[in-house]
Amino acid sequence: MAVRRASTPLAAGSLFAEYPFLPGAESLLGEEAFSVRALLEETAFEAARSLGRARALAAADDPRAERELAELSVATPEVRYLSFLFARIVLSAAPVPAALRRWAVAEAKRSYGRLAAVPADELLEVARHLGFELAARPGGVAVPLVDYVRLSVPIREAGFRLAQQSVHRGEVDVPTVRAARLIQEAVRLQLAVPVPLAPEVVELVRVREAPLFAELERRSPAPVARPGAPGLLRRELFPPCIRKMMRTLEKGENLSHSGRFGLAAFLHRVGADEETIVDAYRGAPDFDESITRYQVEHITLRDGGKGYEPPVCDTLRSHGLCARDGDPTAALAVDRARDERCFDPKLRHPLQYYRWRGGAVVEPNDEGATPPGATPGRPAGPGRLRSTAPR
Ligand code: SF4
Repeated sequence: MAVRRASTPLAAGSLFAEYPFLPGAESLLGEEAFSVRALLEETAFEAARSLGRARALAAADDPRAERELAELSVATPEVRYLSFLFARIVLSAAPVPAALRRWAVAEAKRSYGRLAAVPADELLEVARHLGFELAARPGGVAVPLVDYVRLSVPIREAGFRLAQQSVHRGEVDVPTVRAARLIQEAVRLQLAVPVPLAPEVVELVRVREAPLFAELERRSPAPVARPGAPGLLRRELFPPCIRKMMRTLEKGENLSHSGRFGLAAFLHRVGADEETIVDAYRGAPDFDESITRYQVEHITLRDGGKGYEPPVCDTLRSHGLCARDGDPTAALAVDRARDERCFDPKLRHPLQYYRWRGGAVVEPNDEGATPPGATPGRPAGPGRLRSTAPR
């Protein structure tokens, strides 16, 4: 991700504006007292609401927080804090949980961008406010072992395994940038939990911010292709079964184990990066970042990164996951003409559907085996990408 430069430590008064999730950030407002209802409704808070909506939408447009949010840099510390508060309250009342979880990731990554670039003093100060007693060491930071274990569990990036760390007297010595990544995780964990709201506040938010929720749904993050993939993933070309599985999770509803497996295996084969695959599960009622990453890795890294073969149509049908069958109000009913392809007797595999519509698929095999729906007898190298013209 892009790292923003900050060469000098923050003045104490600005710390809370930059990290509004820190306990004590409310001191930015001085003696001013206001109610949640006032923040949601009164004209005096319109600037904060506008910036808060921008924060929420930025998480959908830019879930990896790779771009600056221009409006943030020109807002006063008070408005920045209030906009954060507004976004958190609104997303806690969202009809689906994925919006809050995505925003938590984006806000945590934004903080990481700064923490990885500033002097270690600021990192230690932020950590201290969050309850972590980190200490400066030559060339890095010492993290208490218990905190390291707790924060590093969901991180599946190379180099975070405890066995690879230098541990001395109950502390883990890490480079500053790795400590910043641990703090990112602490922030994400904190922000992913909805703030408790009274039912009447939830109702008020859902009525007043209905346009925002509709926009968030419309802007659900576009899939991102991993390096080496042929370009953009084209969600609009995904077969109805896959789109239906994704919608199920986005709505915060449960998806069967076989559906979760089929979705991850399909996304891997069409070239999605790991973040995109994990993000597809973010709305699941039992979503757990660590477990999801572990399971996604298990599916996608099998056999040297070839991954598991996604299930064929017959298998999906036997598990009630084929959108051609069953619920006539879902998927196919919306765009039946296009999805008549699903009734073509030659269609055997969701990847085949995707190819028919012009999507590119990563061929997992070096030679020999031909994945269902692929053209038999056509050699393909490991990880080779193939695009088939629309039918
Ligand atoms: S026919 Fe195949 S591609 Fe079409 S919805 Fe059913 S399982 Fe998916």
